[in-house]
Amino acid sequence: MSEYRPIEERRRDWDEVEVPLAASACRERAQACMSCGLPFCHGLGCPLANPIPETNAAVAAGDDALAHALLAQTDPFPEFTSRVCPALCEGSCTRGMDGGAPVDIRALERHISDAAWAAGLVRPEPPARRLGLRVAVVGSGPAGLAAAERLNRAGVDVTVYERDHAPGGLLRYGIPDFKLDKRLIDRRIELLEFEGICFVCDAEIGRDIAPEWLAKRHDAVLWAVGAGVPRDLPVPGRDLAGIVFALDFLKGQNRVLSGELPEAPISAAGRRVIVIGGGDTGSDCVGTAIRQGAASVTQIEILPRPPETRSPSTPWPRWPWKLRTSSSHEEGGERLWSVETLAFEGVGHIEGVRVRDVAWSLSPFGKPLSQHPIEGTKRTLPADLVLLAMGFTGVPEGLLAALPRQERPYLRAETAGSPHVACGDCVTGPSLVVRALADARRTADALLARLTAR
Ligand SMILES: Cc1cc2nc3c(=O)[nH]c(=O)nc-3n(C[C@H](O)[C@H](O)[C@H](O)COP(=O)(O)OP(=O)(O)OC[C@H]3O[C@@H](n4cnc5c(N)ncnc54)[C@H](O)[C@@H]3O)c2cc1C
Repeated sequence: MSEYRPIEERRRDWDEVEVPLAASACRERAQACMSCGLPFCHGLGCPLANPIPETNAAVAAGDDALAHALLAQTDPFPEFTSRVCPALCEGSCTRGMDGGAPVDIRALERHISDAAWAAGLVRPEPPARRLGLRVAVVGSGPAGLAAAERLNRAGVDVTVYERDHAPGGLLRYGIPDFKLDKRLIDRRIELLEFEGICFVCDAEIGRDIAPEWLAKRHDAVLWAVGAGVPRDLPVPGRDLAGIVFALDFLKGQNRVLSGELPEAPISAAGRRVIVIGGGDTGSDCVGTAIRQGAASVTQIEILPRPPETRSPSTPWPRWPWKLRTSSSHEEGGERLWSVETLAFEGVGHIEGVRVRDVAWSLSPFGKPLSQHPIEGTKRTLPADLVLLAMGFTGVPEGLLAALPRQERPYLRAETAGSPHVACGDCVTGPSLVVRALADARRTADALLARLTAR
């Protein structure tokens, strides 16, 4: 179980909310892993296949350095995953087979990573020799960074092109500081630069630099541009002022905290905020709006309220569908489920969101199948700011058009004979940091094999 700083304290600042476990508690909790007969966490649960039983055995034995050496073989950035990963591994922890609480794998990973950085064990690993190959990586989110690291350490000359002002992608500009301190990204970028990776920021490929130019000057171009087109809600009144995409809201605040902007372009201060979308991005909006001083925050979701414990529709060792209450939800606001948005109301500016309750029919195992409106439940929720947090639908059209033989709305991982390869959310669709890292490492390895076989 994650432990957080007191609510009244953390609501007033932007520091990380999670309290790291003491070393003694880590050793104790890692012991829980030692009685496992057949671990599912690393093979089935973790996309990176982190050697969780082995790293936890090392922690239990008090050998944090060994734990880090093992973890670093599969996870390029444990300081990020140990803070933001939903921990798919914990969903498949064998202790959960009978409904028990899983081992705190993510908290232990954070301990391993933090201890390694504090002890100076995370050091630059520049390649022993250069191969005379050049790769351009477009995009510096977790996928771009992981691919760049992998290729560079193998001896490829790597230049990362990023349209934003600083590298990190959604780690830096999407995920709020209270979940991930951006100094950890700066520290990692410094190390990657020291290893020889070149970062070119404020450079949008397809606008500032042509993809063909990159392809001519490199042996390959690896696209890791994310899936940044947000899903819209085209109901009546959508053009009113005060209805914005969640990421624009979150990015503005993150840029203020990094000193890029003097004040947030979109502020929730004193406003009645409605967040549409019950996922993690919506939860990040709740925490950000509360810290900005919103008058009220309501998060609405069309899906039904998940069950308190694992739904039978997602039996162990699958990732459980169940109610998740984030640190942001604990801090305030209201959550509404089974609510559909019919229209936005107001004159020039948003004044209210017209909604209606829906009833869901469920499969015999409790999986939501279809919904129908409940008569007589139409009402208007007052709002001064609406944040649309309903996920992402793909890669911008312009970029798709600029690349040869790509599929819409995402990029193809690879096309025979083409210098272009792709990885991360722009291939898989919107996903998770850990999946972006895993996909990037696979793609980098395949690209390296192809380039060195020529
Ligand atoms: C608000 C929010 C919160 C999230 N929280 C979590 C979380 O807690 N845990 C988790 O596991 N996942 C989380 N996710 C999902 C996770 O962030 C993504 O799955 C992950 O970042 C995808 O990595 P990526 O490198 O493929 O893409 P991105 O992180 O999107 O990076 C793509 C990069 O490419 C750049 N780029 C795009 N086009 C161009 C161009 N033409 N030229 C140059 N650069 C370009 C972008 O600026 C960006 O830096 C969250 C997502 C959002 C939106």
